[in-house]
Parts: sequence; structure tokens; C-alpha cells
Amino acid sequence: MKLTVIGTGYVGLVSGVCFSDLGNEVVCVDKLSEKIELLQQGEVPIYEPGLKELIQKNTEAGRLSFTTDLSEAVQHADIIILAVGTPSLANGEADLTYILGAAQEIALSIKGPKIIMTKSTVPVGTNEKIENQFKQLSVHPVAVASVPEFLREGSAVRDTMNPDRIVVGTESEAARQRIEELHRPLTDQILFTDVRSAEMIKYASNAFLATKISFINEIANICEKVGADVTMVAEGMGYDKRIGSSFLKAGIGYGGSCFPKDTQALIQIAGHVDYEFKLLKSVVEVNRDQRYNVIRKLETILDDLSGKSIAVWGLAFKPETDDVRDSPAFEIIASLLHCGASVKAYDPIATPNFRKLLDHSKVEYCSSAQEAAQNADALCVLTEWSEFRAVSPAMIQAWLRRPNLIDGRNMYSEEELANTELIYYSVGRPNMN
Ligand code: NAD
Repeated sequence: MKLTVIGTGYVGLVSGVCFSDLGNEVVCVDKLSEKIELLQQGEVPIYEPGLKELIQKNTEAGRLSFTTDLSEAVQHADIIILAVGTPSLANGEADLTYILGAAQEIALSIKGPKIIMTKSTVPVGTNEKIENQFKQLSVHPVAVASVPEFLREGSAVRDTMNPDRIVVGTESEAARQRIEELHRPLTDQILFTDVRSAEMIKYASNAFLATKISFINEIANICEKVGADVTMVAEGMGYDKRIGSSFLKAGIGYGGSCFPKDTQALIQIAGHVDYEFKLLKSVVEVNRDQRYNVIRKLETILDDLSGKSIAVWGLAFKPETDDVRDSPAFEIIASLLHCGASVKAYDPIATPNFRKLLDHSKVEYCSSAQEAAQNADALCVLTEWSEFRAVSPAMIQAWLRRPNLIDGRNMYSEEELANTELIYYSVGRPNMN
């Protein structure tokens, strides 16, 4: 099939590249010429394991190309995939400027019938708006389908090639058949729905996962007070098939470009139809507060943070990604600075992106984990990169000026800590030292 993908972010680029690897002819479009130039040179503007090799392979095979010329690129395709960003507005609603803008550009360019497949996460009713735009601006018949994306950053290629399910919301039989044909090599689990239900499935899924995280974090907070161990509690819960073990890892809360914005957007979607989504509002509030436990624990150990040197390991919102959008590390570091501390930060991949968010004289960006921890008054582990797991607590103690370790991701075990003098705080586990 011939596909054009609009937007070469985490979703658009990975989808385009994976579809080309399945034998489709794919043109990827982005407004940002610097991104497209990088891609044309075989470089990848985002960090995503396995992506670079696939880009190289499929570009060489002549199935994959990159351009900034949307109007030319859309002529090539049977199916046009919308994968532009839908960030949060200040009030939490999804900003539809990019998606409606892209749809308008397509409508003004096409010279024949097309299928529009929306992968961006959009509020219920948006695909109808897109369809209306096409009716107003173009004489060519266009079928619109909502095909929300469920990939996870850090394992985006694997997730795209092995999806749990594909959801296709469309009223068009022709679109349904073509989109089914496109996805058949990936999975038999294709659920066909109406457009509004498909849009809602995406928000409901992310809101549910966020709820699981906030739930286990609240259980962790209670565990700390009653002397139970949340890792054992989660394991015991997870064996129950009705609950499942995933997303029951206590920590410093969720972040990233999806859960924070999609939970806020769903609260707004509900609000627009006079429904107060009380449960989800609490999920968001719990998540916001959870990250401050790091500061509270530091204050318990160090009392006053003013003038202290605090090492931070991990700036990305999770391992294996360079994405720092809504990363808990941002608010934690901002709080440390507010308390008068200075920060030495290290991340294996995400430092350049984080520095764009926070360029501050009291934040030193280090080039190794050791450099960050050396002579600090405490170390906070905020992202569970395997590189950090490989450092022994004894080594951490040797590097620090004072033996204080706040483990926001429960990376270290009791056995590993046993032979150290570290004052160790994790999440929802009894104090081990
Ligand atoms: P992103 O911000 O990384 O990338 C979006 C890209 O679209 C940017 O490169 C931007 O320049 C480009 N763009 C915007 N308008 C354009 C236009 N008119 N023409 C050409 N290019 C244009 O976004 P993302 O993280 O890939 O997310 C895209 C959508 O997918 C969002 O709705 C998001 O909620 C959803 N989603 C994201 C993930 C994820 O893990 N990132 C997972 C599932 C769903």
C-alpha cells in the first residue's frame, strides 16, 4: 500500500518506519525541516531502540522517504495517517491546532479520494470535525477513521510490530477494509467500532493505567506508615488475573507526553458534558503529590536543603527514552532549587532535551553517574535506567559525601544494602538502613 504519514514524532515516525518494513511504500512528512534533513541523512531525531536500523534498511530498499512538502506527499498515498501532536492547553483541554491545521492542508492539496487515518489522541468528536473540514474544503471523497495509537516510548518499535490490539473506528466500509488489510500482518486482534468509541477507548485506556499507578502509589504511602512492603503487596495483588501485575510499580508517579495530558483532557471532555470525573481528578492530584515525597524524604534526612548538593540520576520520564515532557524530574529539581539546594544531574540519553527545559546556574549537567554522585549530600534516583541498576550501593556510598540515597524507583534490594552505611529511603518499603 501507499501511505503518507503527517508528523514524524514518536508515533508518526515509528508507525511510518514499521509500515514500510512490512512492505508498504511510505512517505513521512514534517513541518520541521531540521528533522527531515536529519532523517534524509539517515540520522534519527528521537531516541527509540531499533529505529535507526529500520530507517536505514527501508530507506535503502526504496520504500521509505522523508519530505517537508505535504501537498506533494499526500498525492502519493491511498491512506494518509495523521500523527501530529495534541498537547495540553493551559486549561487541560487538548490543543487541536496542529491536527485541524494538518487536515486543512491535506484537504486543500488532495486531487483524488483518500482515507484519513487519525492516530493522534483526540477528544471525542474531533474526527467528525476533521470530516466536516474535508467536506467544506475539498470536492474529493474522503473517509475518516480513528485508529488510536497505544505504543509506549522506549519500546515503540516492538509495540508497533506486536500490538495487543488495533482499534478502528469508522463509518466507512471501504476505509474499514483497507485499514484491516494494512494491519493484518501485525495482529488478528482488530476491533471495529464507531468513531466516537474509538476516540474514547484511547483516553479510557490511558486514564485506567494512570489510575493503577496512582492507586499503587497511595498503597505505597500507607505501607510506609504501617510497615508493609508495597513490592510484596503488588506481587500478591498481581497474581489475581482480574487485577494483573502490570502498572503496579510504586514510584514517584507517572509523567511523559501522554498520561498527564490525556488524564487532564478526559477530565475536560467529561466536564463539557456536565460530568465531574471525580476519580480521575484524584488520580491526577495523587500523582502530582507523589513526586514531592522525594523532597519530603530528603528533608527528613538533611533537615534544611539550603546550600546542600543533591545528585539526581535520571531526567527522562522513564528509561529507554529521551522524552522529558512532563518528567517528574523537572518538578523535583525545580523544588530542590526553590529550597536553596544545588543539583548535579545525569541521564544516559535525555540530558540535551532536559537542558532545553531547565538551564539554571545551580544545575550542573554531568557526563556520568559517578560525576553526579561524587561528593553530593544525597543521591535521588528518579529514572530506573539499567545503567544505574548496575552500580552497587557500596559504590554509591563511596562516591557520596554523605551516605544518603533516595530511591524513587525501588531499584535496590535489602541484600544489596546490607553491607553499606547508606541511609536509604525507597517507596512503600520499610526503611532498610
Ligand atoms: P510529537 O510532538 O513527538 O510529534 C509531532 C510531530 O508533528 C512534530 O514533529 C511536528 O513538527 C509535526 N507536525 C505538526 N503539525 C504538522 C503539520 N501540519 N505537518 C507536518 N508535520 C506536523 O508527538 P508524538 O509524541 O508522536 O504524539 C503524536 C500523537 O500521538 C499525539 O496525539 C499523542 O497524544 C499520541 N500518542 C503519543 C504516544 C507517545 O508515546 N508519544 C503514544 C500514543 C499516542
